[in-house]
Amino acid sequence: MYRRILNHLNPISHLGDKDYSFHLALLIPLITATILEVVANEILNNPYSVGIFAIILFIPQIIYFAFRFGIRGGVITALITIFYYSYIVISRNAPPDEQTSQWRTISALGLIYLAIAYVIGWLKETIDNSLENESNERRRLQAIVEQLPTGILVTNEKGEVVQGNSQAEKILGRKIRKGLIAGRDTHPTGRVNGRTIKPTDWPLAQVVAGKKPPQGKIYSIINENDKVTYLQISATEIKNTKGKMIAAVSIINDITEQKEMETRKDDFINMASHELKTPITSMKLYLESLRKNIERNRNERAIQVLDKVKQQTDRLQELASDLLDVSRLQTGKLSFSKEKFRLDTLIEDTVKELQDTTKDQPITIEKNPPLLVFADKFRIYQVLTNLITNASKYSPAGENIAVSLKREKDKAIISVRDFGIGIRKDQQKKIFDRLYQVTDPTEKTFPGLGMGLYISKQIVIRHKGKIWVESEKDKGSTFYFSLPATKR
Ligand code: ADP
Repeated sequence: MYRRILNHLNPISHLGDKDYSFHLALLIPLITATILEVVANEILNNPYSVGIFAIILFIPQIIYFAFRFGIRGGVITALITIFYYSYIVISRNAPPDEQTSQWRTISALGLIYLAIAYVIGWLKETIDNSLENESNERRRLQAIVEQLPTGILVTNEKGEVVQGNSQAEKILGRKIRKGLIAGRDTHPTGRVNGRTIKPTDWPLAQVVAGKKPPQGKIYSIINENDKVTYLQISATEIKNTKGKMIAAVSIINDITEQKEMETRKDDFINMASHELKTPITSMKLYLESLRKNIERNRNERAIQVLDKVKQQTDRLQELASDLLDVSRLQTGKLSFSKEKFRLDTLIEDTVKELQDTTKDQPITIEKNPPLLVFADKFRIYQVLTNLITNASKYSPAGENIAVSLKREKDKAIISVRDFGIGIRKDQQKKIFDRLYQVTDPTEKTFPGLGMGLYISKQIVIRHKGKIWVESEKDKGSTFYFSLPATKR
């Protein structure tokens, strides 16, 4: 019976809590108070001291209950206390005056008890709720991280793993436990990007060490069975509001399949362009000898037709070598043979040569001071040709194309200006990307595959130069590229 009542009163009994502190906490102060009451009345012979004892004893009890069991626990304790105190007053049989003053004290104390119980209980419930919300939120976040299709590793500021999802375990091929040291215990060992990697070289370890690692870098990892996997890894620090690092996170993606597909594609382009080049070269040789033959017999019409065929063969040859260049750039196999030469002479020769093919479009050289560079002559010729043919291709016939060279400190800057269709601002950066074309391929008005500017940019970059464009839609464009000039 006693237990049933207490269980009913005990606000946490429904949670199946087998904690008897509630019962003890109720009984102990009551017993102690009774003893004190007897001591105050019978031994000290001073009934008023009990009020003081009650305050001293009951207030901590109410605080304890309110804090442990919330508003309900606090208020119940306060009420029990008030009833108990009232019982003492009634049982003491004091004179009416004294009783009135004691009832006043009880009412005042009772209100204070209830107020304390309510405030502390409310505080306790608020704290509990926010803790519960926080832990719910944390659980939700953990579930999200766990189910992400990307590998995630989280460490504390010391680099010890605090969380890792199953995708990370799958990619890294090891169990991720709390407390592992990022890099040393978590990442693959062996040869990475062709060299032996130190555990501290992994992006996550670098972030922990306070460095800024490259983002999205691709790591090729060769395991002991010579199997290659490609991982794309980024890592970043997480700071608190005061700017102090509290965690580091790494995002790991297995891109082996995409990489293999890319390699197959590159191999295909490489092979296809080689296959294309061989018959074209022989065709050109046969055409040349045929032309000589016909020339001897003075067949004008046949010569004209042959010239047309030659033009098309040249175009095919250019396409094939562009394809080959793109493929070599992709696989890092484009090599340069640099020499010292006069850039101004190259510009003059190139313009002269191109003027022969674009007769209806004047190409002028505005400034061309003598200037020496150390570069791959053929590749620079290729960039120049590409910019001038683009200028001609993307502007109406008759409009002038202007080429200019100037020295700016230790740089040679070449510009090619046209008054053609121009390029919108948002597309000016993209045109240097591989296979990017401004015009929609379905409504194509200009021939081309979007390889020229990409190749040009890569050539210029590999010469430690820059390439850029200034352009306004429908007004024209000026393409610039710079190269390091040799000293005067
Ligand atoms: P494409 O073979 O298509 O010419 P490029 O790489 O040389 O390839 O050029 C990429 C794109 O940049 C072109 O498709 C074109 O839309 C734009 N472009 C290049 N040069 C010019 C120019 N002088 N004027 C206007 N647009 C240009």
